Amino acid sequence: MTRLLFWIGFIVLVVMALRSKFREAAPRPPARRAPGPAPAAQAEAESMACCAHCGMYFPASEAVRADGRDFCSPAHARLPSH
Ligand SMILES: [Zn+2]
Repeated sequence: MTRLLFWIGFIVLVVMALRSKFREAAPRPPARRAPGPAPAAQAEAESMACCAHCGMYFPASEAVRADGRDFCSPAHARLPSH
């Protein structure tokens, strides 16, 4: 009985080793999708704006525009820039 358990464990280990080797060799389709950038890349691709008051960078879509300049918040848009 002990021998049978040993062989079962041995076979399981061999199968697991072969599986991990196969996974390393095979290309992973979900990880490297050629068409279209990943969601994280899309977020990075969004244009950034710089606050005219504090100089902080933020997504341009969240910019508060005043006097032709971009601000990070309505509060900074009201404050005089330096
Ligand atoms: Zn600001």
